[in-house]
Amino acid sequence: MKDCLFCQIIARTIPATIVYEDDSALAFEDVRPQAPVHVLVIPKRHVASVHELGCSDGQLLADLLLCCTRIAQQKGISDAGYRLVTNTGRNAGQTVFHLHFHVLGGRTMSWPPG
Ligand code: AMP
Ligand code: ZN
Repeated sequence: MKDCLFCQIIARTIPATIVYEDDSALAFEDVRPQAPVHVLVIPKRHVASVHELGCSDGQLLADLLLCCTRIAQQKGISDAGYRLVTNTGRNAGQTVFHLHFHVLGGRTMSWPPG
């Protein structure tokens, strides 16, 4: 989608520090990290949020979650623990309307989230 920031990162028209890529997913460093490790995992296909996924998207969802665990392993945070977040819609604070999972780690997280 032409006006979508993350689609432009996929198309390499906007730069990003890409840490992983395969046929269905891309992972890159968040530009405003909220933790020592903060990577975004996105589908290469434009989907606005997790809420837009349907029954036929099960494989894509599995691929994205496995991509998140791979990033956690790659970044060395899997033993200590990490958090996966996908903000969905306005009340959750979603600002980029291309589905993404935040992979956050490298520090202790508080709960409940703000
Ligand atoms: P959300 O608020 O859940 O929609 O998350 C959007 C995330 O995208 C935020 O954590 C931003 O810091 C991040 N972000 C925005 N623009 C860029 C960019 N050009 N490169 C990398 N991350 C970005
Ligand atoms: Zn997009």
